[in-house]
Amino acid sequence: MRARKKISNLLLKNYLISSLIMFFIFLVFFFGTIAMWVTLYFPINMMMSSEDSKLVAENIISKEYKEIDVEEILKVNGWIEILDKDLKVVHTKGKAEVKRSQYSRDELDKMLIKMSAQDMFTQEKFIYSIAYDKENDFYLLVYLPNDKYFNNGIKKSPVFISVRLFFITAILLYIIIFTIIMIIYAKLTSRNLTKPLKELMNGVKSISKGDYSARINVRSRNEFGNLGYAFNLMVEKIEEERKLKEKSEENRRRLIMDISHDLKNPLVSIRGYSNLLVNNHNLDEEERIKYLNIIEKNSIRINDLITDLFELSKFESIDFELSLKKENICEFLRELIAIYIPTMEEKNIEYNFAIPEKAIYANFDYYSLDRAIGNLISNSIRYNPPNTKLNIEVEEFENIVKIVVQDNGIGIPKDLSEDIFNPFVRVDTSRNSRSGGTGLGLTITKTIVEKHGGRVYLESDIDKGCKFTIVLNK
Ligand code: ADP
Repeated sequence: MRARKKISNLLLKNYLISSLIMFFIFLVFFFGTIAMWVTLYFPINMMMSSEDSKLVAENIISKEYKEIDVEEILKVNGWIEILDKDLKVVHTKGKAEVKRSQYSRDELDKMLIKMSAQDMFTQEKFIYSIAYDKENDFYLLVYLPNDKYFNNGIKKSPVFISVRLFFITAILLYIIIFTIIMIIYAKLTSRNLTKPLKELMNGVKSISKGDYSARINVRSRNEFGNLGYAFNLMVEKIEEERKLKEKSEENRRRLIMDISHDLKNPLVSIRGYSNLLVNNHNLDEEERIKYLNIIEKNSIRINDLITDLFELSKFESIDFELSLKKENICEFLRELIAIYIPTMEEKNIEYNFAIPEKAIYANFDYYSLDRAIGNLISNSIRYNPPNTKLNIEVEEFENIVKIVVQDNGIGIPKDLSEDIFNPFVRVDTSRNSRSGGTGLGLTITKTIVEKHGGRVYLESDIDKGCKFTIVLNK
């Protein structure tokens, strides 16, 4: 599974969302502030410049500067100054905050330029306006104290009063919103990073406690998702391995139990009869021979069991190597079958061999395969009644050779067709004890075939006979 989303993209997304919100809030405050300034100052200026305003120099100037109507100006604690042509202050009315007696031309020009856009100019402390009387060649300067003007109750502006408050609230609000956004950002990021990490951690903890059924449910489609997927895969593998280990441990225990059981019975019998022979001197010849036969039969059984066990552990050993040679498998089978023909005839087994005349070459170990296929043929002879039909066929395909050993005898139950290849699995013990098998034959066959890189399988059912198929690579 590939990460369709990357953590870096995720962080970038969260960052962008937060930044956009921040930017939006910034815009709201920025334009809000501008709007506030605009609503504050334009109306003031417009109000001042309205024709009937007695606060603007242009509106109140008259030829006789001493007769200028300053009532409104004085009401708001403003004052006027009259400058003659040399810019000397020749007359003042009202209480001037800054007492001046002379202006320079430069200074007045600057003031005029500043004012030129509107009728008045707002400075830090006062608002001023200038008018010039051409006829009498004098200037009228009107000064209105900023604070006093707006706080004296006459033209009080509620909006203006809240400007400072507005800024403080705005900054506070901005800080609060900034903090909230940062918290949201942290939460978003932590949900995407911490949550899957926690899930992983819990998974690891469960595994370390031995709970291999634990799986983690990381839904993210980023690297965490991949990690979770890999983690689950790893746990599945560990669980599989653990089950396999448990199974092989169980198999080993069962094998030891089966071996000891299978060795114990003939040994007990040998011990009992030899004891009888040693301690009982009154036995007649017939009895003695009978007991000796039983001892011999049981010792042969023990020998067979040990030989088969030895063979099995040899073939199963990883150190065991087949001596593979490219040989004609048809010739090999003909030679092998020839050995069993006398026994088959003796037991009235009807045999039929479909082995091609032409040579079919395959890579195999002569001795081992002899043992593997020999087991199948001898089983068919051993476990089935007279007149059973036994077919042996060889078929060649492009890369494989198929060897079929089939009989129409008593068969093996269908549900045992896989288990029968495990050590000591027999169809029923009574059937087996009569025929004297060790229960290791088919296990040895399977081990040898698999060592060759081939497969063996059984199709069978009770009273329908057995069909063993061996598939070998050429
Ligand atoms: P054993 O040494 O007992 O023959 P195998 O592994 O060769 O052990 O066979 C396991 C069991 O499978 C036998 O005990 C027998 O009951 C059954 N069996 C194997 N081959 C045949 C067959 N051709 N027909 C019927 N039963 C068979």
